[in-house]
Amino acid sequence: MHHYPDAAAVVRALTPDEPVILNRPHAAARAARFFAEKFPGKSLYAVKANPSPDLLKILWDNGITHYDVASIGEVRMARGALPDATLCFMHPVKTARAISEAYHQHGVRTFSLDTIEELEKIVEACRDDAGNPATDLWLCVRLRVSSEYAELSLASKFGVDLADAAGLLQATRQHCDALGVCFHVGSQAMTPFAYVQALERVRAAIVQAAVTVDVIDVGGGFPSVYPGMEPPPLEDYFDVIFRASESLPISYSSELWCEPGRALCAEYSSLIVRVEKRRGDELYINDGAYGALFDAAHVEWRFPVVAQEDDLIEPLEEFSFYGPTCDDADFMKGPFMLPADIQAGDYIEIGMLGAYGAAMKTGFNGFGDAEAVIVTDEPMASLYRGDRVDPRESDNVVSLR
Ligand SMILES: *Cc1c(COP(=O)(O)O)cnc(C)c1O
Repeated sequence: MHHYPDAAAVVRALTPDEPVILNRPHAAARAARFFAEKFPGKSLYAVKANPSPDLLKILWDNGITHYDVASIGEVRMARGALPDATLCFMHPVKTARAISEAYHQHGVRTFSLDTIEELEKIVEACRDDAGNPATDLWLCVRLRVSSEYAELSLASKFGVDLADAAGLLQATRQHCDALGVCFHVGSQAMTPFAYVQALERVRAAIVQAAVTVDVIDVGGGFPSVYPGMEPPPLEDYFDVIFRASESLPISYSSELWCEPGRALCAEYSSLIVRVEKRRGDELYINDGAYGALFDAAHVEWRFPVVAQEDDLIEPLEEFSFYGPTCDDADFMKGPFMLPADIQAGDYIEIGMLGAYGAAMKTGFNGFGDAEAVIVTDEPMASLYRGDRVDPRESDNVVSLR
């Protein structure tokens, strides 16, 4: 892969017709080291946020040993990229064949579930040739928790309700070597309190079930930085989670896990796009809803943008984007702040797209090709560089301290 100092150098060298993905290995490495060193437990990288094998190797080389995979495709790909990694199959609805292949061929021992039916499926699929049940399963019961503090809800689809959790925990305990409780507070959780509230529900479930629990897995949801979304420092999340989990009725030797996706890879990539047409304050660019800008279109996520032409004039104005496909829904409201005289032919760098960016690309309508290169400059924002103004100083962020 080619190396360039920054987006401007890429534009000068390539004047690309297609979008270009700019990867920053140093930024992903820094995020991995941060979690590996500071999270008071084990960090599983949630592969769906960005499944690039190059990224997986960077995370592995910087201390991330466990990977949260959700499909047999992710199991095979992660195993191919990282032969020695611990893979945890954390989708609560799997096929029997996927479980069997993961267990028997790829060494997967950790599975999540939220129903008795899934528990039975896992137990059956992991039997040996003689029909004996597996004795080395780590099973995590997914508890349904509130998503009220997250920008993207993950509350309605998965997780056993508290009312049914005790029975499921007791049944699962019969079939596993280690029993875990996991949850997901939703993506981009803007306050650590989201985890406190979820851990209170975990406490209630454990008390009702009266079982020994070996793993508390607080899931993903750790935020990154975007325009209008300045979370408190991640250390606050780690402190609050540590204190809340310390007080749970679990064995002294139990493990604390988390499953960061976004926080480990958001800073890894940005994207160069070109303006192909301007209509008032609407810019027609060459990536969009069916490309790396899925979240910008579907949940009106605002990503930071920087025009790549030096001669454009301030002040900045508000623009919205149309993507390249013929679908009216290929529209990104923004607002994206760009120079008032931006026009067709100009390039824009869109930042913080390492998570749920390139991972979402489709080939719809014949668009979707994008070259990837490496750049060595800093991402547009970072939670890990140590020079960020503490948003607790501002009054629009909830703080627990
Ligand atoms: C998507 C997902 C994650 C990662 O979530 P982020 O918000 O990207 O941190 C972690 N665990 C599970 C089970 C998920 O589905």
